[in-house]
Amino acid sequence: MAAYLGQAGYTVEVYERRSDLRSTEIPAGRSINLALSYRGICALEGIGIADQVLASAVPMHGRMLHDPSGRLTFQRYGKDDSQAINSVSRAGLTAMLLDAAERHPTVTIAFNEKCVGVDLDAATIELEHAESGQRRTVRGDVIIGADGAFSVVRNQMQHLDRFDYRQDYLEHGYKELTIPPGANGSFAMEKHALHIWPRRSFMMIGLPNQDGSYTCTLFWPLDGPNSFSMLQTEDDVQKFFEATFPDAVPLIPTLATDYLKNPTSSLHTVRCSPWYYRDRVAMLGDACHAVVPFYGQGMNAAFEDCIVLDECIRRHAPDREQAFHEYHTIRKTDVDALADLALHNFIEMRDHAASVVFQIKKRVGQWLHRPMPNWFVPLYSMATFTRIPYTQAIRRARRQERILLGVGIGGAVILLLMLWMWISRADG
Ligand SMILES: Cc1cc2nc3c(=O)[nH]c(=O)nc-3n(C[C@H](O)[C@H](O)[C@H](O)COP(=O)(O)OP(=O)(O)OC[C@H]3O[C@@H](n4cnc5c(N)ncnc54)[C@H](O)[C@@H]3O)c2cc1C
Repeated sequence: MAAYLGQAGYTVEVYERRSDLRSTEIPAGRSINLALSYRGICALEGIGIADQVLASAVPMHGRMLHDPSGRLTFQRYGKDDSQAINSVSRAGLTAMLLDAAERHPTVTIAFNEKCVGVDLDAATIELEHAESGQRRTVRGDVIIGADGAFSVVRNQMQHLDRFDYRQDYLEHGYKELTIPPGANGSFAMEKHALHIWPRRSFMMIGLPNQDGSYTCTLFWPLDGPNSFSMLQTEDDVQKFFEATFPDAVPLIPTLATDYLKNPTSSLHTVRCSPWYYRDRVAMLGDACHAVVPFYGQGMNAAFEDCIVLDECIRRHAPDREQAFHEYHTIRKTDVDALADLALHNFIEMRDHAASVVFQIKKRVGQWLHRPMPNWFVPLYSMATFTRIPYTQAIRRARRQERILLGVGIGGAVILLLMLWMWISRADG
């Protein structure tokens, strides 16, 4: 957003709680890669870094399902190899975004500056320096809260009259593990796929990195009989993985130690409204709409916010309140729909992805999409490979499902009729 605003000639001061990752080591064990798709790519094109980011990405053309016996099944995401989602390094992408913002002479970025308080009416924020602990207050015309799922800006907005807020934690949390690169940076599994080990109530996924490694994420309930809390020792971990993900075990040589060392994190959905306050404050990304990661759209949707907010600011300048109002109206319902999609896709990925009915449905969807790319577009493709608003995509997918169901029932009736005629003739 800073790059977009800098491009439009605004003076922007960015305050970031962390240190500059371009000159510091990144802690391991926290979501190190993400799937970038069309909406995100469009936003990066808007600030001129899409090609640079894609050059550092690994395209994933489909899901590779690993069943408990190690048998593999590939499910393509789009109509052909031209439609892929892209595994990008979180740190690499952040560095490119920081460079893109700083390229504008009117944009400055201050690191180690944690926002600890906000005055919405005065548009001031209180900052605390991470090392010295010193506090100071800075003033702007506008505050853009892009401070993630635990946003301090949103926290302040919650004190406003008629501000709606809802936060739902998932029963599942996640832990990351790494499959290291093979000899000379080779890939131990299919490179151009998002690997999934679906195990009904839980699953593990693995995304490739450019250096030949994979970042795996285990999604599992945090407590209860079948949960993270079950595994306390290296022996527990080894036995569980050998029984549950046997083909992954030889690929993670330091599995048990990594498992015990890496943090287990929680996942939640945030819904709130409105995303702005007068002409003073606007929020974007996880600060106003954190979603669970199962549709691979959280970051992409945050990037799409930037496109829409930039367009609204330009369209209504100098009326910022009108710009923020329109931005909120356009995005709010859509991103709520995304939150539901993401929750639903978790069930699909961990539970249905391996089922025969699901696989047939996916195949039929792709068969219809290939000859009729404008008439029949699977929901996943609309969300991932287009910028059709999520709500419209869902409506259209429901219509398509009804047509598919009609075609299926019609086909079944015709088959039954033919069978009946054949039996009658044989009897006669
Ligand atoms: C396990 C996992 C996997 C995911 N995979 C995908 C994926 O494949 N594809 C996808 O599109 N999305 C994915 N997401 C979602 C994605 O990570 C988020 O939607 C995205 O990072 C949101 O961006 P943001 O800029 O709004 O917030 P963040 O990325 O959280 O950035 C917020 C920034 O604000 C800073 N900050 C926070 N508080 C303060 C403060 N008080 N003062 C100053 N600075 C502050 C933070 O340090 C950070 O730099 C995943 C999420 C998780 C948890």
